[in-house]
Amino acid sequence: MSLADGARGDLKLTGLHKRYPNGFVAVESLDLVIPQGSFFALLGPSGCGKTTTLRMVAGLEEATQGTIHIGEQDITYAKPYKRPVNTVFQNYALFPHLTIAENVAFGPKRRGAKDPIDRVKEILALTELTEQAGKKPAQLSGGQQQRVALARALINRPDVLLLDEPLGALDLKLRRAMQIELKRIQEEVGLTFVHVTHDQEEAMTMADTVAVMNKGRIEQMGAPYELYTNPRTTFVANFLGRSNLIKGTVVGREGTGDDAVVKVDMHGTVATIKASKVHTTSDEGWVGIRPEKVLIQPEGQSLDAPGAALSGAVVVDASYIGVSTDYTLRMPWGQEITCFEQNTGRRGGLIPVGTKVDVSWRPEFAFLLDSAQDV
Ligand code: ATP
Repeated sequence: MSLADGARGDLKLTGLHKRYPNGFVAVESLDLVIPQGSFFALLGPSGCGKTTTLRMVAGLEEATQGTIHIGEQDITYAKPYKRPVNTVFQNYALFPHLTIAENVAFGPKRRGAKDPIDRVKEILALTELTEQAGKKPAQLSGGQQQRVALARALINRPDVLLLDEPLGALDLKLRRAMQIELKRIQEEVGLTFVHVTHDQEEAMTMADTVAVMNKGRIEQMGAPYELYTNPRTTFVANFLGRSNLIKGTVVGREGTGDDAVVKVDMHGTVATIKASKVHTTSDEGWVGIRPEKVLIQPEGQSLDAPGAALSGAVVVDASYIGVSTDYTLRMPWGQEITCFEQNTGRRGGLIPVGTKVDVSWRPEFAFLLDSAQDV
């Protein structure tokens, strides 16, 4: 596949800023480098500025400040159709009276391509639409129509493909299937994909790199695993899955380099946290731990865990959901925390509500965040 032939380098946003005419700042001094050929996701809640960022890259919205480059080329003020960029939106915008093949051929023909038939065939095969070539859009399912929209964008050989919640209109099952499909297509064509979504699972499933956006700014950027296991802010910790956040006070530091740890007192129990997962300079912080990393055992039974054990928790809810059981635990200081336990059969049943349990986790899974941040 030679689609990436025209690719000319990384997409680089420098100090990109958008103030709308009513004075609202939707995007604040964004600095981003999206490597050529990567699958990049811009993830954040509704209204955080994702679409505005995408529209500035597409040229549909003018930046108030900052620059947009693809490789060495400055496209900040280029007309939308002059940019080596294409966008796939959630509403497919297909021509209802044209066949699928004609829909896909429309762009190249308008730009003067005499007979793009080979290329149309190639793109239809890539998007698994060969058998639908002669049909009209109304005869296709939602997922197939979405693939036609993608085919129409890919045939233009953009350097960068922008995807604005492209799977938003699909039901959950089809959405999951299309996520895998999109990832396959991106790997095959090797173009830069910039995917905007508010769905954390979608971003994590597909993207090599995820940038978490909040209130017009990037809070954290990295590989999905890195963001999930080592969030730097309470916003990221809560937006990507669930987190338990427990107030703690730093009482000491030990070791150096990779072995360095911080000791944190949580309501009388001292926990150890890797220094690389400490994201506050203050002595007060939030100790964060993912629910699936929380280990519990009825009081008096041995808790096979190397971490510090918190005792005196009570099970206040046990919800069996097949692969796992979700426990809500009330800690002695009144806070409720969550534990997701895999149902391996080891326990031979649920721990009943009302049972007193000991709680622990492996030290390497915990992180420490700034206590001034909201939870
Ligand atoms: P969603 O997922 O809901 O589309 P988003 O993260 O893509 O959200 P944007 O569409 O970029 O968010 O909007 C960011 C903010 O800018 C929102 O608060 C929105 O109300 C505001 N906004 C968008 N367009 C305009 C405009 N033309 N004038 C003023 N404010 C705007």
